[in-house]
Amino acid sequence: MKPPGISNKQFAVLCEARDLSNYLGIPMPDIYFDKQEDERGRHLTRRFLGECYSLENQIMIKLRMQTISALRSTLTHEFVHLAFSIEHGIRFEQYIKFLSSRSLFFDGRGLVTEFPKPRPDKSQVLTELEAKLRKTDSKIKRFNTYRKKLLRKIKRLES
Ligand SMILES: [Zn+2]
Repeated sequence: MKPPGISNKQFAVLCEARDLSNYLGIPMPDIYFDKQEDERGRHLTRRFLGECYSLENQIMIKLRMQTISALRSTLTHEFVHLAFSIEHGIRFEQYIKFLSSRSLFFDGRGLVTEFPKPRPDKSQVLTELEAKLRKTDSKIKRFNTYRKKLLRKIKRLES
């Protein structure tokens, strides 16, 4: 249940944060919204949707202008900063993708050891296999024609 005194958006972010920290096996970070100041008097810079202070285990999130699903993805982004020290880039985006679908694997220390193998689309595999089959069929046809030709030559020489 939503505790009194917090907005729907704040509640959504807190639930997601609880869920992400449980999943990652890391302590729940302190979360500051919009202009709320932390103990050092810092608040979110206007141009950022979210900001993460890994050392203080702290995340700042801008609620304004963000839908709940946008807030979830901002939070996931900040959690990748919080849990893994990697730079923005392809690997970072992969972490976000797998973290949001909860399909990251961890070793005993909570580190990612492998990614799930991407499952190819079934219909795509089927199309590829059918194309291979057609190619093979036409090869068989060509070989059979060639075989018949050889047989005719042999018969002609034998007669
Ligand atoms: Zn970032």
